[in-house]
Amino acid sequence: MSTARQRLVVLGATGSIGVNTLDVVARHPGRFEVLALSAHQKVDLLAEQCRRFSPRFAVVGSNAAAARLESLLRQSGAPTTVLVGVEALETISSLPEADTVMAAIVGAAGLRPTLAAARAGKKLLLANKEALVMAGPIFMSEIRRNGSILLPVDSEHNAIYQSLPRDFSCDLLNNGIRRILLTASGGPFREMPLEQLESVTPDQACAHPNWVMGRKISVDSATMMNKGLEVIEAHWLFNTPGERIEVVIHPQSVIHSMVEYADGSVIAQLGNPDMRTPIAYALAYPERIEAGVEPLDLCQIGKLDFERPDFKRFPCLRLAFQALEQGGNAPAVLNAANEIAVEAFLKGRLVFTRIPEVIEQTLACVAWREIASLEDVLAADLAGRDAARRLAASPLRQ
Ligand code: NAD
Ligand code: MG
Repeated sequence: MSTARQRLVVLGATGSIGVNTLDVVARHPGRFEVLALSAHQKVDLLAEQCRRFSPRFAVVGSNAAAARLESLLRQSGAPTTVLVGVEALETISSLPEADTVMAAIVGAAGLRPTLAAARAGKKLLLANKEALVMAGPIFMSEIRRNGSILLPVDSEHNAIYQSLPRDFSCDLLNNGIRRILLTASGGPFREMPLEQLESVTPDQACAHPNWVMGRKISVDSATMMNKGLEVIEAHWLFNTPGERIEVVIHPQSVIHSMVEYADGSVIAQLGNPDMRTPIAYALAYPERIEAGVEPLDLCQIGKLDFERPDFKRFPCLRLAFQALEQGGNAPAVLNAANEIAVEAFLKGRLVFTRIPEVIEQTLACVAWREIASLEDVLAADLAGRDAARRLAASPLRQ
């Protein structure tokens, strides 16, 4: 282990991934130093994290949140400067003193700060899959151009990363790789009679059988849009065409994904469903550190099941494969429409089965365009959001 401490920025520190990241970091005080944290609204939790980790900067989403955080920090004497807004997020992502950025903001809101970390050539631990889905080509070219090291935190992509050859050159065929097998739990509604799906509640959708996660990704898991976004994420991370990515439902969530080689070997990564494993892997890469995760007890689990996904039950998965195939602005529009539809569902304004309908109708009504710049991505995001908002507000099924 090197002697200098790794200086870390955590974007989205108060979320499920952020909290798990700081849990791993706290186990290794000699290895990591927390330089900056961000949160949108949970100011009390952020203040607590500042007291514990003494970052130099903390970023929040509004002046009101900043005033409250400053007053909480004054009481505790934490040495943290409070900043506000997206530019401040970009500033902490590219601090010259920072070695590593954990990108764990949820949704499109994470795009600009995550891209700023890539541009600054940081070691980038990517949880914010939406950023890559929206801006894949731009994102990957910034990573390459600035010598940034990109380590996937999403458990499936982390598993694939671990199952690839160490010197993987982003060329599947030359590496003797036939396919990527992306596992999925199938979420809480895998076996629910189809006619009941219409009346499921946000709390039912967020009650994931194996993982505890933020509410947006929990709904994405219930619709399987999460897997759809992950197919697009895998396409960009591993330079893999959609037809070489197979989704396999594996309800126990013990195998986190697999790589199939030309000689018939299939290499998998296994572990308990606990995000601290991929987080610790990415934080310490290429070393291995203790993460607080229970050892895997295969005899207790007893058996591992697999099945093919049903596109009728999970139309979002079909839509994501379709958007990947279409390319251009389609993945950004898909992502924007999904964010709007999921938010409306979580607020009780849209029934669950309308989520894929809103996304499909949005994709049909926003014109296809090439993506050549960040502005093109932001325009696609905006157009997708506008169209999806209109469609989600309409009570009609078309
Ligand atoms: P979460 O909702 O628990 O936390 C989101 C974080 O982002 C919070 O700190 C919040 O303050 C911040 N945030 C929200 N809106 C923001 C905005 N507009 N501007 C700035 N900050 C904002 O989400 P999560 O479950 O931790 O997921 C974070 C990301 O990681 C998502 O992209 C998700 O897809 C991905 N991911 C999560 C898991 C998991 O187990 N939770 C697994 C794999 C990938
Ligand atoms: Mg995942």
